[in-house]
Amino acid sequence: MKLWIPDRVYFEPLAIEYPIGEKIFNFCKKNNIEIFKTTSHNQVRGIPGSTEKAKFANAKKTLVVGRKKSLNLDVCKPSAHYQFSLMTNCPGNCEYCYLFSTQGRNPYVRIYVNTNEIFKTIEKYIKKRLPEITVFEAASTGDPLGVEHITGTLKDTIEFFGTLDKGRLRVVTKFANVDPILDASHNGHTRFRFSINSNYVIDNFEHNTDNLEDRLKAAKKLGRANYPLGFIIAPIIRHENWKEQYSSLIKKLHSHIDFAEKDSISFELIQHRFTSNAKNIILERFPNTKLEMDETIRKKKYGKYGRMKYVYQKEEALEIKDFISGLIKEYFPNAIIEYFT
Ligand code: SF4
Repeated sequence: MKLWIPDRVYFEPLAIEYPIGEKIFNFCKKNNIEIFKTTSHNQVRGIPGSTEKAKFANAKKTLVVGRKKSLNLDVCKPSAHYQFSLMTNCPGNCEYCYLFSTQGRNPYVRIYVNTNEIFKTIEKYIKKRLPEITVFEAASTGDPLGVEHITGTLKDTIEFFGTLDKGRLRVVTKFANVDPILDASHNGHTRFRFSINSNYVIDNFEHNTDNLEDRLKAAKKLGRANYPLGFIIAPIIRHENWKEQYSSLIKKLHSHIDFAEKDSISFELIQHRFTSNAKNIILERFPNTKLEMDETIRKKKYGKYGRMKYVYQKEEALEIKDFISGLIKEYFPNAIIEYFT
């Protein structure tokens, strides 16, 4: 497990006046990281690189610290009612990253310092749905655990949700740095999910993330710290030997998650999909990618705002769903499979 250290950090106006901004500034000083000012993240200039590939690699080592200005929350189906952002983008570098469709042209990592305003917004959205419980997803626009060693904001957020009667938090990660949040007062209100996959997918497509072994060890630590636990298997890819490899994955998971908590774990299953826009970006940044993105053998699916994506054909998707659900039921008979999409 290697913690991400950016090469350069840009501060938007006023960001440094917030305690989190100051904390990040001190982190930069301590680690001899170059610091710049910018009027806005859109105005960030000077990220080196003469090709799209090089620019992308350098953007992934660039951090922009600012305030979250738009505080309207989007709905987040099927995993939660709403999503909010403590950060955008991610230190990881997965070839299939779901962010390419929405954040593709601005791949630098952004961290938001105005968490109090974000928390007030969350309270407002909870109020609207009373007396129902409202569930929020914190990892739809990035992986907050990947920068927790710099910000500490995920722990604050977990503790904030720990105090809420009617609010629940969901987080998903491909990182393993859970030690800073083990002692958080979560009150059982945060479900922490780990994104896991076959060896083929992790080895070929998931760069700069923590390896499966470390993710499973981290999951075990959180389970022992009484966090509700879950696993997202995504993207599920029909590569050669996919059945054997996903079987080994579930067996390996079972051998790690050997404590009482395993009865209440959740699973979310997501088949591989891509948009035309994401495909173009992926081919520019990973010209030798082994990702299969052949529109002619895929089925079109229309999502939010009429956006079209390519998924597997109906029978292939059904085969994935039945096969992996069967494995889960065999090894984790009491687990909940929340959805397949
Ligand atoms: Fe994208 Fe998640 Fe990979 Fe980060 S860890 S690059 S958010 S898929």
